[in-house]
Amino acid sequence: MAAAPPAGDLSGRLFVVSGPGGVGKGTVVAALARRRTDLAVSVSATTRAPRPGEVDGADYHFLDDAGFDALIAAGGFLEWAAFGGHRYGTPWSSVGDALRAGRRVVLEIDVQGALQVRARHPDAVLVFLHPPSIDALSVRLRARGTDDPDRIAERLRIARWELDQAGLFDHQVVNDDVERAVAAIDRILDA
Ligand code: 5GP
Repeated sequence: MAAAPPAGDLSGRLFVVSGPGGVGKGTVVAALARRRTDLAVSVSATTRAPRPGEVDGADYHFLDDAGFDALIAAGGFLEWAAFGGHRYGTPWSSVGDALRAGRRVVLEIDVQGALQVRARHPDAVLVFLHPPSIDALSVRLRARGTDDPDRIAERLRIARWELDQAGLFDHQVVNDDVERAVAAIDRILDA
């Protein structure tokens, strides 16, 4: 899966949507991709197990620890981060072709990963997606039913740190309504 990064600067073609876990990044980016066919959506790699219905190569590239280590060693990641006991990363192979072809690529990634993109590619455009409130985030995490109460408490603790990083992002969007959030990001893309 390793692939070299495209040469030259990415001059605003790298687009990141980030924010706390549970804020609804996946839903917003999926709706954005339906609206903007000019946008390529990166498929991440992860060491976590597939959830029911998730398809390898479409939702994620599901790797074991050794496979993830090998990709790090080969310089195959644009960025990667540990989240909730697993590792997640953007393989260059998921974005290189689109970038070389001059297309814009959107990454839906956690806040640590977004800050790595900021450090390595200062010309990337970073959007921070906010929950309407921390209470709303807590309700969403519980409603998902994928985490036990201890894990939800841990995710909320992390979310508070993630929200503290929002000032480092170029744009702030509140996900109080998916269509409204998508329209706001759409305008940022056109700006
Ligand atoms: P989930 O396990 O719920 O699919 O994702 C957990 C978190 O990992 C989410 O916040 C998601 O945005 C983030 N994530 C997914 N792919 C990547 C990636 O390639 N890089 C980083 N840094 N985070 C990712």
